[in-house]
Amino acid sequence: MSSASPRSLATSALRTSLKGTAALGDAVQPPSSGITILIYHRVGAGAGGQMDLSPEAFDAQLAWLAATQRVLTMDAAVAEIDDIAGPTGPGVVLTFDDGTTDWLDTVLPALERHHIPATFYVATDFVDRGVAFPGDGQPISWASLGDLASSELVTIGNHTHQHLLLDRLELPAIEVELDRANELLGEHLGLKPDHFAYPKAVAGSPAAEEAVRARFTSAVLAGTRSNDRDADVYRLSRSPIQPSDGDKWFRRKALGGMHLEDDLRRTLNRLRYRRLAS
Ligand SMILES: [Zn+2]
Repeated sequence: MSSASPRSLATSALRTSLKGTAALGDAVQPPSSGITILIYHRVGAGAGGQMDLSPEAFDAQLAWLAATQRVLTMDAAVAEIDDIAGPTGPGVVLTFDDGTTDWLDTVLPALERHHIPATFYVATDFVDRGVAFPGDGQPISWASLGDLASSELVTIGNHTHQHLLLDRLELPAIEVELDRANELLGEHLGLKPDHFAYPKAVAGSPAAEEAVRARFTSAVLAGTRSNDRDADVYRLSRSPIQPSDGDKWFRRKALGGMHLEDDLRRTLNRLRYRRLAS
């Protein structure tokens, strides 16, 4: 790691201490027994960074999940969370955001090896135009997405068309973001998505939320905590999985812990923005 810059070393030290502090928070407030939804982006895409996990790490996570956890489809999870009388127990749901080539090349074979279902939220404009996602994410083709969608382990969701934040658009533009993605997924894959993921996990404006509720049966944000029975299925929490989690913090997140990481990161971001603004 001799090539790492002082800045990236400082960032990684901060990340490690942040996770350590978040883990301490779990002792004060133990993770609940609800359903934890994990966020992944890419596996083995070779782009580096916190959104790209190594295939080996991903495989080890799936092996552990298959051996120790109840892994659910998004449909089953939403049904359990929505059912007041339902027998909701601890469970895990895997989700992927955006739409890159590794989904078919690396992610699906790994899911099949461990027989684990996952939901893939697609931002359709990148796929349709063949334009890279930020951070050098190579877009999956419609043909490959069709192959992915044909697996019984796979659920396809809507992640808007252009990946625009829905807290700041006027209603007509919000509707284009939701409906254009649905149209393209219908046209190319012959399906109508039931599930939605807000871009960058930023909650929508009231108008956006209403438009989402009218079109889908669930919507996901961030929050790094599990979802108890009777949680709002249009504001589900998800826990982002990063390479820097390692085994230890991955397992804590899968069990619904590490909520403090989300709180601390938000606070740090606020301080950073305030410093930039002053
Ligand atoms: Zn995204």
